[in-house]
This record gives sequence, structure tokens and C-alpha cells, in this order.
Amino acid sequence: MNAVQAFHRRSIHDRDQFWREESAQVHWETPFSQILDESKLPFAKWFVGGKTNLCFNAVDRWLDSRADQPALIWVSTEVNQEQTYTYRQLYQEVNAVAAMLRAQGVGQGDRVLIYMPMIPAAVFAMLACVRIGAIHSVVFGGFASVNLAQRIDDAAPKVIVCADAGSRGGKVTPYKNLLDKAISLSEHPPEKVIVVDRGLFAFEPVVGRDLDYATLRTQFNDAIVPVTWLESSAPSYVLYTSGTTGKPKGVQRDTGGYAVALASSMQRIFNGKPGDTFLCTSDIGWVVGHSYIVYGPLIGGQTTILYEGTPVRPDGGILWSLVERFKVNTMFSAPTAIRVLKKQDETLLKKYDLSSLRALYMAGEPLDEPTAKWIAEGLGKPIIDNYWQTETGWPILAGQPGIANVPTKFGSPSFPVYGFDVRVIDEQTGQDLGPNQKGVLAIVPPLPPGAMTTIWGDDARFVDTYFSTIPGRQVYSTFDWGLFDEDRYFFILGRTDDVINVAGHRLGTREIEESINCHAAVAESAVVGIADQLKGQVAVGFAVLKDPGLLDVAGATQRLESEIMKLVDEQLGAIARPARVRFVTTLPKTRSGKVLRRAIVAVCEGRDPGDLTTIEDPTALEQIKDSL
Ligand code: AMP
Repeated sequence: MNAVQAFHRRSIHDRDQFWREESAQVHWETPFSQILDESKLPFAKWFVGGKTNLCFNAVDRWLDSRADQPALIWVSTEVNQEQTYTYRQLYQEVNAVAAMLRAQGVGQGDRVLIYMPMIPAAVFAMLACVRIGAIHSVVFGGFASVNLAQRIDDAAPKVIVCADAGSRGGKVTPYKNLLDKAISLSEHPPEKVIVVDRGLFAFEPVVGRDLDYATLRTQFNDAIVPVTWLESSAPSYVLYTSGTTGKPKGVQRDTGGYAVALASSMQRIFNGKPGDTFLCTSDIGWVVGHSYIVYGPLIGGQTTILYEGTPVRPDGGILWSLVERFKVNTMFSAPTAIRVLKKQDETLLKKYDLSSLRALYMAGEPLDEPTAKWIAEGLGKPIIDNYWQTETGWPILAGQPGIANVPTKFGSPSFPVYGFDVRVIDEQTGQDLGPNQKGVLAIVPPLPPGAMTTIWGDDARFVDTYFSTIPGRQVYSTFDWGLFDEDRYFFILGRTDDVINVAGHRLGTREIEESINCHAAVAESAVVGIADQLKGQVAVGFAVLKDPGLLDVAGATQRLESEIMKLVDEQLGAIARPARVRFVTTLPKTRSGKVLRRAIVAVCEGRDPGDLTTIEDPTALEQIKDSL
């Protein structure tokens, strides 16, 4: 057993003492009386009775020792601006936004939806919410009105904070207009909308509802809003994620457990210390952005870089130039970003001084060996693959150099992270499997501090979705296949469900199908994820038309394909747009009517579709093949 495995073992077998020690890394206004309440598993309450606050730990706590250290450095290659906020300045900005929210009547337990691009005000808004005990729900800027409306309805926010627009690769997206449309579709319109006007896209403020951020900011210039001390299990935020149904799940996170998990991970997984600089290229709309752009680095007393832009503008050296300029110590990115860079001038990897950088962490999707090797050799730095989910809030599997430097293996996110009792389980028998046997990757409850505590507003769905799929055992299913080898290195082998992963973005095929089915000409559809060299997977849709005669009309299918793509763009956002839509007269289904997705994927990827004894109409699969 190596040191990382021994550390993990202690976290499971000497759990209470282990987490008591880790919990000392955060400030507790009121000490907790119990490490864990597991009387209602799979619901777990960590650090019962303790009171703390995420904003205090991320900001106020550093005012004595690091007030003049940069806390947040914003770099935008989209609007060519930069701005640095020291911890003292961050404190002031966050207090001003907290006062703004307070003035709109936002208090503990109220929801605030944040629909914003990668600008500092988004971070201020998140921290301001947790400061006053309001629950934020950040919606990724790439999502369009229908997605947004669903989230508004589920979270029922009192206030929404947005910007006029965002920009990506020079293309402007009018956030405010998309939000207006979403609100018009929603059953729970917010009372107020606070708009950051960047001057990127003209909009009409709604009189009586919309408020200008800059005006309010001046009004609350010197405001100080006392921290609201929250019981450890009080919700901090809700972050929506896709599953197999059309309805996204609101992943609810606690306060104290999350603070401890992140503080601890900054040392043990990311091997960092206060004063370091951290660059995470994710987006605040994703879990990685929540944990490692905003909360983790700040709770760790580090400087975090908020980057608005793509990895290739003005050229493929932009990220490395940031590492050089800001002496970045730890970087976190996604395999897709690196695959994009592979297409760029390779000398850019050697052009900058990267001596400050200790390691590059990567997560969000499988890290293929060629990409891992290319970047490891190009940078001459350790590459640390880590595997996690929106639900867990921090890594489940990872190299953990802050504990010990154990060699990595290509294709493996190494070992379970302390606190996660990870098993590979046979989906039929529910038994634990041994080395080199493929099964469902599962976690024995309790989930550790920092992981989701429930689905927002739906405890029953939390239990049903995650803890009721393995026969005879109440364990958390990751819905990923996995195995561990004889040295106990873990490997991830793809999803067990209909969730796909496009460029690190998790998408439910069901949501895309529902959107395609909104097209007047479509009777039904199936969407699958097909392997893609750049993005890992892309969505491909197969649609059955109400009028099959259209298949014979010249140009009709091309027209329909582009109409459907536009529809998905408008409803869900461009990230969900299928790469291709093809038309067939029938979908391959079982006799009981279930679409044979794995067979469709196999055919699309040129593989053998396997056992087809249950197929209703074998010609359906041939149609799929021909349509490509
Ligand atoms: P999300 O909740 O959007 O972060 O997506 C989580 C899913 O992404 C996981 O269930 C995996 O399928 C996939 N994933 C995340 N990180 C990794 C990784 N390091 N290796 C392989 N798959 C990953």
C-alpha cells in the first residue's frame, strides 16, 4: 500500500478523527458537536452544530495576513481588459453586492440565479450570496432560454443577476435578451434583475424590475454587510446538471462540509499553499469553476485567475503566457482544451517561462493517452488526471501529490480520494469486483464532506436516482463503468446511462431529443454520443419524420437538418447542438419499445452492434448506417 492509499484507508477506518483534523483548516464561528450524523443515510450531515460561512473563509479570513495580495486577477482576451482585486478590494466588492442583494430583500435561504459570463461581478455575486446565506444557482452562459427557464422554475429565485452580454471567440451572446425570453417562459419570474451593462449589446431594461449594477454599486460603495453564520449543513448553492430525464437535477451543496473538502483538497490534491497562484480554465457555470476558480483557491488564500477567452486567441500560447506573467503554480484544464492546442503551433509550448508551474490537472472527460503524452512531454510537467462529477463537488479519483508523489499511469486518474469509499460493483449481483473486472463505479455512503447533500426540493429523487440502482445495496452510483488494476489504479470506461460528454460538458441525450421533437415535422428522435477526436464525443441525432414522403423531396432533409440545429441552439444553446441530424423511417428499438442506443453508437463508430435478439426491426439499424 502506498502513502496515498494509506491516507485514504485512514479516512475510511478512522473517519471521525480524520475529518476532525481536516476540519481545522477552516474557521468555525461555533464549533461543531458531532462530526457526522449518519442516522438517515444516504443523507449525511457533516460537522453537526458547527457554524461557519464560505465567504468568510474565502475572503474575510485573509484580511489580516493577505489584504494586499491579489485575490482575483481577471483577464479577458475577448474585450482586452484586465483587472486585479486584492483581498481587501475583493472584500469591498463582495460587501457592496451583498448590500445590493439585501436591499432587494434577499435573505438567508432565498435563491439568487446568476447568469453571467466570466467577469469579476459574477464572482462577487456568488460570494455575496453565501455571505448572507442566500443560495446561488449559477447557470452556464452557453445555455439558452428553455434550459434557463427550467432552472428558474425549479430554483424560483428572488433575484437574478446577469450581464448584457458575454463574448466567446469574438462572438457576442446577448445574455440579457436570452434571460428576458427565459423569464417570459417561466412560471416563477424573479422580483428583480440586476444587470451588469458591459456595453456589449444594447437591451431594453424592464421598468420596475431591472436594476443597473453600476448604479447600485456606487450607492453601496462603503457598505459592510456582516457575515451570516450558517449551520454546517445549510445549503450554499444549487448547481443544475443533466441526467437521463429531460428535467435537470439541482445538485445541492452544504456549507461546512464543502469548506472543509475544498480547503483540504487545495493542499492534499493540488499541493498548494497560501500565496500561490491558481489558473483554472473552466467556467463558473460548471462545478469545476465553482470549486477551483472561486471557492477552493480563495479558501486556500491563493490568487485565482478568472480568464474570459478561448485557449487559441490571440494565439495558442495565451494560456502559457498567463502562466509566465502571473507565475501560475497550479493549472487546471480539460482534455478538450489541450486537444484544441494540439492543432496549434507546437513551439508555443516552449515559448514561455513555465518554471513557476508545478503541475497541470485535468478533469471533466476521459484523458486519452496521446493527449496526455503530448502535453506532458511538451510542458515537461506532471499531468494529473482527476475524475469527478458535479454531484461530488471535488475529485473522487486523483493523483494526490500533496500527500505523496506516487507515479501516475496513462489513462488512469490514479486512486480514490480520501473520504470516498469507492468500489467497482457487478451491476447484476451487486457484489464488489476484484482487480481488472469491469463494473459500475460506486461509492459506499456516507458521501464525504463537500459532496451533494440532496437534489434541490426533491429528497426522494436523490435516493431514487443515485442510491437505488445496484441490486441489494444502497450505494451511490456514478453511472460510470470502471475498473482497478492489480496496483489499484482506477480506470474510467464510459457512462452506463444515456448521458454524453461533449468537450467536457455533460449533456443529457433526452433533453436534446425533446428539443428536436419540438420541430413540427419530427415524429420522434434518438440522440447518441459518438466518439470524436477533438471533443471526446459529439451528439448525433436521428429523426423520424411525420411525413416520410419528405425524404424523397430534393433538399428537404438538408433544410430540416439546419432548422433542427437552429431550434436546439435557440432552446438549449449551441453546446447541445447535434453535429449531425439524419433522417430515418424508424428507430432501432426493442420489442418493448426501448431505443437501442448502444447498437446505434456501435454502428456509427463502425463497431459490431452486438446482441440484437431483442430488436423489433433489424432494417432500422441498416437505415442508421445508410443515413450516415
Ligand atoms: P460533470 O458532472 O459534468 O463534471 O460530468 C461528470 C462525468 O464526466 C463523469 O461521470 C465522467 O463520465 C466524466 N469525467 C469527469 N472526469 C473524468 C476523468 N478524469 N476521466 C474520465 N471521465 C471523466
